[in-house]
This record gives sequence, structure tokens and C-alpha cells, in this order.
Amino acid sequence: FVHQLADESVGMQQLLVSPLWLEREAALPLPPQLYGASRRNSEGVDLTVESMRAPLLAAYETTRVPTVPLADVASVGDAVARALAAGRHWSRAPVERRAAILRKAADAMQTQLPQLCALLVKEAFKTWGDAVSEVREAIDFLRYYADEAQRLMQPLALAGPTGESNELRLTARGAWVCISPWNFPLAIFTGQVAAALATGNSVLAKPADQTPAIAAEAVRLLHAAGVPADALQLLHGPGETVGAALVAQPGIAGVVFTGSTQVARIIHRALAAKDGPIVPLIAETGGINAMLVDSTALPEQVADAVVQSAFRSAGQRCSALRLLCLHEGIADTVTGMLAGAVRELVIGDPALLATDVGPVIDREAWEGIARQVERLQRTATDRHPGLEPGSMPLHAGVPMPDQARHDGRFFIPPQIFEVASIAEVQQEIFGPVLHVVRWSGDPAAVIDQINALGYGLTLGIQTRIDSRAQALAARAHVGNVYVNRNIIGAVVGVQPFGGEGLSGTGPKAGGPYYLQRFCAEQTLTINT
Ligand code: GLU
Repeated sequence: FVHQLADESVGMQQLLVSPLWLEREAALPLPPQLYGASRRNSEGVDLTVESMRAPLLAAYETTRVPTVPLADVASVGDAVARALAAGRHWSRAPVERRAAILRKAADAMQTQLPQLCALLVKEAFKTWGDAVSEVREAIDFLRYYADEAQRLMQPLALAGPTGESNELRLTARGAWVCISPWNFPLAIFTGQVAAALATGNSVLAKPADQTPAIAAEAVRLLHAAGVPADALQLLHGPGETVGAALVAQPGIAGVVFTGSTQVARIIHRALAAKDGPIVPLIAETGGINAMLVDSTALPEQVADAVVQSAFRSAGQRCSALRLLCLHEGIADTVTGMLAGAVRELVIGDPALLATDVGPVIDREAWEGIARQVERLQRTATDRHPGLEPGSMPLHAGVPMPDQARHDGRFFIPPQIFEVASIAEVQQEIFGPVLHVVRWSGDPAAVIDQINALGYGLTLGIQTRIDSRAQALAARAHVGNVYVNRNIIGAVVGVQPFGGEGLSGTGPKAGGPYYLQRFCAEQTLTINT
């Protein structure tokens, strides 16, 4: 990995598909409609950034980021009324028809992949590798939920001793409010919307206010594929005004939200304070995600997995690695490798193919992360007097560049800090900042300390003792456990994604129990 990074033409981009997946692809084909983990799309076209260089760069030249009009807070009630009216027709359409419309939108996204990627690079500052992965994930969500809805929305006959006919069926709940984040402004936006639509609900979609244009493009493609205009309405604006007005509406049937734990709580309280029906909330929030490395782990594999997990996407994934727990016996080897690998990362303009780490989303994010980095640097220099900020290995992080802001963009170079204990890490820092802690003794005790942080999203385990990996995974209160690999990039349909505790309510996106939560259930008993 370090060698690959040293070659200027090959950065993390090249590794957007895990080498392991590439090896296993032929042996273990995915369900044919999904290609999140495959390097080819459903038409067999190679989707690596290298092979798509020309169409991607051509799309970048021609793509503009359109302005999206702000929703008028005073008319949110009308939007909900229209959604309810449209939902009555949409929910009565056969599920096959709704599924066909979602598949048509997926095909359109596949055709438009370079343009969608260009928009992601320009509006959300995604690297090309991240942009391609994200469009593929959005397409997978559309196809997966189309299939799942067809599977689930058939009446389930329940035989019994009563002589009656019993049937259980899922029905749409009504109008869902979908509130999505800027870090996956296409994939998570599309996933939430597709889940609600596939099950016959109508949707009021409030994308993050940093990234409305890619959301508007997804809505355009869904409308063109046949979703009625009022069954899917985009309401762009700040969470504090537009989001709050939507959540406060009496007519809504549910809220699905991905974002911070703090905002999830605000939504939860607002829903609880309303009179009328009890409105369900599906929340997917953050994590203080850890990787436990024992003394049998392969150091090169660990270094690769850590760089990918902590610094890809500039650490702006809720799945990203925040806390690396290294066994004392292996810590010096791994930290030495990490220090080298981090120095090789190319930080810069996401539009350049060689860039590994682009900017963070905006000034506010930059200021928050920079404050945390300064705090960690102060603690490190207090603990190790005489230590130069930026000295390696791994005490005070990489110095913030004088020119942290370029062309109105805000960069944070990857930062690594050793801390004295797991309990010291109390806050999720949503950027490329990694804490390292050393441990010895019983690894189960380390898992207990990780559990005690209260989050529960992703966990990495690096060990060559299979029984230990199994036992530690079972002990951990987290949603996604990854053994001997990186901890990001869950694949729709095969790695259902979502956490517990401070990390969210479940169910898991891209999994077989997700759509049920968008539905009401009805049991029909007929005395025959
Ligand atoms: N599903 C993404 C992953 O596995 C993370 C989603 C998020 O950041 O919200 O990396």
C-alpha cells in the first residue's frame, strides 16, 4: 500500500474497490442487480476511476452546480397536504409498478454516472473515487429496495387452527419526511427516498443545505422515471427552519434522518411533543468507531485499513475510524508504518485524480475540527514537554498548514494523536483525526471500554485468531463489525449498515429489515 501511494499516479482512488473484493469477485458473484462491490456495472462496464478517466473529466468540464430555490416555510403545510393526496394514489399502485419506476431511475443514474460524479465533486468536494462509489451505492439502493418491496408487500398467509383465513400485509403509512446529510448527499438521500417510495409512501425530502443540487438532480431523475411530482417533493433549506417546520406538521407519518446524534435528539423531542399520532423516527447518527488490533495482526494490513478507514473521504463518514487500539507488542511497528503512509497521502483539490484527501465540507466544519485539533495538540505538548508540534511518530499530529484555506475551500491534513486512555475520547470529531491508544492484557476489557463510550456503529478487529474475532464481535455493542479489513463502505444488500445506542435507532439501511419500518401492518382475519 505504501508503495502504491508513493507512485504519484496511484492514490487511494485506485483502491476504491478493495483488492480482496477484486480477487473474490469471480468466485463469489453478487446478486446480479447489485454492484456496489464489483468493479463492473450491470452492463459489464468497468467502473474504476482509471478506466473512466475520460468521461469523468469531460463531465467535469460541462457540469455546473445549479442553484436550488429555498422552500418557503409558510407553505410547508401545503406541501404536506399535497403529499398526502398524492400518496393515496401512489400507495394503491401495484408494488410492481413502483418497483419498475425505481429501477428506471436506477438505469438513468447509471447512464448519467459521470455527470452525477462531477456534481458530487463540485458541490460536495468528493474525490473521484468517492464519487463513483457513491453513485453506485445510490443505484444499488434503488434496485435493492425495488426488489425488497416486491418481496415484502405480498400478503403473508398464516395458517392456524381456527378454521379462519388469516393474512398479514404491509401497507404504506403516509407521508414521510426524509432528512439527509451532506456527506453522502446522493446515496443516503436516494436510499431514504427509495425506501419510502417503494413501500407506497409519499416523501417530503429535506437534503442537507450544503448539498441541494445533487439532491435536486436525483429528484429530477425519479420524476422523469414516473414518480408523481407531489409524491416526491424537495424542500431545500436550513434544518432549523424548513426541517423543523416539516417535523412539526401534524399530518406526517414518519421521519427518517441521518446526521448528528444531537440533531436526532432534537427531532425526537419535537415529535414526542406533538399531539396526535405517535410518529416513528428512524435515526442513523455518528460513532466513535474503534479498531482493536492484537499482537497477531498483520501490520501492513492494519496500516492500509487504518489509512482507508480514518482518512478516506477526509474522515467525513459516520463509519470512519476514530480510535485505534493497538496491542503494545505491535504498536511501534504499526505507528511507524502509519506515519509513513500518512506523509504520502495527497491532500488537495478533489478534482485532481491523484488527490487522496479533499477539503472538509465548509468553514463551520473546518473551525470545529481545527478547535479539536488544537486541543489535542495542547494536551500532547503538555504531556511531552519539548515535543515539537508535528513531530512524528504520532504525538502531536501533522501541523495545520498556514494556508489551510485555498480557493474558499477548507483543508485539514490527516491528524494522529496518541491518547492515554479510551475514556479520554468522548466526542466524535467528524474529520480526518485519529486517536491511538495502546493496550495490553485482556482484549475483552478493551471492548468493554469501547462499549462504555455509548456509541455503536462500526468496529474493526485485526487478529489472526478466528475464535477471538468471533468472541470480541459478539461482545461488542455495534452494528457493523469488520475483521481484518477497513471499516468503511458498507455494500447495499450484503453489508446492511446502521448502529445502536448513540449511533442510531436501526433498522439497517440496505438490509432485509429496513422497509418494514416504513410500513404499517394489517392482519386480516376472515371467518370463512
Ligand atoms: N455507509 C457508509 C459507510 O459504510 C457511511 C454512511 C455515513 O457516513 O452516514 O462508509
